[in-house]
Amino acid sequence: MCEVSLVCPVYNEYQLIEQFAAAATKVLRNTSESFEIVFVDDGSQDETWTEIIRLGKIFPEVRGVRLSKNYGKEIALTAGLANARGLAHIPIDVDFQDPIEPVPTLIGLWRGGIDHVIPRRIDRADKGLRLIGAGIFYKIIGWLTLNSVPKDVGDFRLLDAKITTRFLEFKEAGRVNKVIFSELGGSQKFVEFSRPIGAKGRKGGQSFSKLMDLGISAVSSNSARLSKSILVLGVAGFMVGITSAIAVLVAWLAGFIEVPGQATVLMAATVIVSVQLITGSFLGILVAESLRESQQRPKYFVEELS
Ligand code: UDP
Ligand code: MG
Repeated sequence: MCEVSLVCPVYNEYQLIEQFAAAATKVLRNTSESFEIVFVDDGSQDETWTEIIRLGKIFPEVRGVRLSKNYGKEIALTAGLANARGLAHIPIDVDFQDPIEPVPTLIGLWRGGIDHVIPRRIDRADKGLRLIGAGIFYKIIGWLTLNSVPKDVGDFRLLDAKITTRFLEFKEAGRVNKVIFSELGGSQKFVEFSRPIGAKGRKGGQSFSKLMDLGISAVSSNSARLSKSILVLGVAGFMVGITSAIAVLVAWLAGFIEVPGQATVLMAATVIVSVQLITGSFLGILVAESLRESQQRPKYFVEELS
């Protein structure tokens, strides 16, 4: 048991963890009597685990959780939170994209009685395409999940242990932590911070396919909005098809055209087929996701603790 746990998922970032541990202990030793830094090695292929063990000898506050394979950040963070022993838990990335400086403020607010302190970015260090990509991604997810996720927040936050317990009660395998965080209740407070310039973000960050995957999980596990929109689209496509077919028929009967326009029919068919394709594929996604959830497989295995 300790007062505060920093929980850091780590995947192939062994060069960064010592620097992170040094910076974090420096800030936390001035803030808290007792704290721990829980590094979750998410099945890294590099020296991450040996580095965590080595750091545990230098910094008594450092602990490690090694997962049996790479599960992705959502699960890695979940495993870290399940193994955290503090009264308050702070998920934070090791790549310095989440700054350590606001941590004492988060702790102060929690000591004052706030259960869930949420830092809100007032800018992003991401640039160019990636910024636009992330912007569009979060806009779409926001719309599809009925905007349940507050804007410009990440997983970086402070959770009272009580809130973490609620978080862990969400058992879905295709989890999107940010969406779950927004469901946890308790007293909440937002604090603003700016992302550090030149944060050492891993090149490329979360890959495009991982973001897509996350987006699909967010949508299929949290909202019927997409299915409903596709249904509307399907109905609209059907109306277009029927109307154009009738129009062609009437024009033909009235003698305006000699042969029914093949192009019109083809267009109507294309509309209908494409609508069916979209609808079918989304149904497929829902079925696959519900199969996965009903399997109730273990979310992760911890291979080793340090
Ligand atoms: N991470 C992880 N497992 C993964 C991918 C990433 O534990 O499969 C960790 C990574 O080490 C980092 C955090 O999750 O501490 C955020 O990852 P990244 O910087 O790649 O993503 P971002 O959110 O910055 O785009
Ligand atoms: Mg990053």
